[in-house]
Amino acid sequence: MVDKVLLAEPRGFCAGVEMAIKALTWMVQVFEPPVYCYHEIVHNAAVVAAFERAGVIFVDDIDDVPVGRPIMLSAHGSAPEVVTAAQDRAAVMVDAVCPLVTKVHHEVKRMAGKGYDIIYVGHDGHDEAVGAIAEAPEAAQLVDPRIGLDTFTGGEDGRVALLAQTTLGLYEWEDVLSSAQSQFPELWTARKSDLCYATTNRQQAIQRLAERADLLLVVGSENSSNTQALVRVGSNAGVPAYRIDGPEGIDQEWLDNARVVGVTAGASAPDQRVQKVIERVNPHDGVELVRVTEEDEYFPLPPQLRRFMQTLQALVEGGFACRTPGQEGPVELDRHTSATEALSILGV
Ligand code: SF4
Repeated sequence: MVDKVLLAEPRGFCAGVEMAIKALTWMVQVFEPPVYCYHEIVHNAAVVAAFERAGVIFVDDIDDVPVGRPIMLSAHGSAPEVVTAAQDRAAVMVDAVCPLVTKVHHEVKRMAGKGYDIIYVGHDGHDEAVGAIAEAPEAAQLVDPRIGLDTFTGGEDGRVALLAQTTLGLYEWEDVLSSAQSQFPELWTARKSDLCYATTNRQQAIQRLAERADLLLVVGSENSSNTQALVRVGSNAGVPAYRIDGPEGIDQEWLDNARVVGVTAGASAPDQRVQKVIERVNPHDGVELVRVTEEDEYFPLPPQLRRFMQTLQALVEGGFACRTPGQEGPVELDRHTSATEALSILGV
């Protein structure tokens, strides 16, 4: 019998995922199905399944989208040629890339433009890494943190920049950084790491849980990079840590050997799944919130969608005084709506 659940705060949805889920929810409400989405909108099986039920078709090739259909591009960021192809093909193209991923795309372009060879630390084949490297494939090389710098060729003139996927484990990034600094003393890197606030906050929170828990459960999907990083951070702290999609993934034996269970969730995992996990663990003495910091980041809906909704609204209102001056419309109200609420409309 488990005595207590320690629940990490922050956990689950980050501002980028919030924005992307709400944007796609708007798309399925405004357009007749199917709406197309290039790559999984976020790396979470429950979220993807909910959108598929609502009429979204996920594709890995823009050529699979019939001309004239609405398209959304995922939160992980897309290669420039994908963005152009989607613009050419779609009636409405909405790019739901997270602004923090866009920042890394800009850095790749800028440093390549200055003649630097770029070490991009990321996981081979991950959508975010593929999109970022495509900004300057002649200059940027993927360095998988599990392999290290051995695969990197370049930097003969000493001009080397180090950039990274936003969702790595902090320890993975630091390991490559320290070898790169010894190999290239003039190494350029972003003032802070490219790891985003959500990644680092969730990793700090699981470390705090690990100080007191006998078992760590990380809710999130297998292809979610930041979820996998949380599991590794938990295991590195010496506590058995398991990734689960939801309560069905829990092995009773894990609970038989634990009194205090730490629960957290990757940045794309819905809180509905977390609550179901807690119900399944059924702690005798209840749940204690373990908060490491407050998060209040908010990313507005993508500009293409804001413009489209504002135009649509102006047409619907048709000059009639449907709203009093200063009254908020759906775009402004977005700030007060959560992705968890949006997903409950879709039955998650
Ligand atoms: S994990 Fe970070 S970079 Fe990725 S979508 Fe969330 S806020 Fe953006």
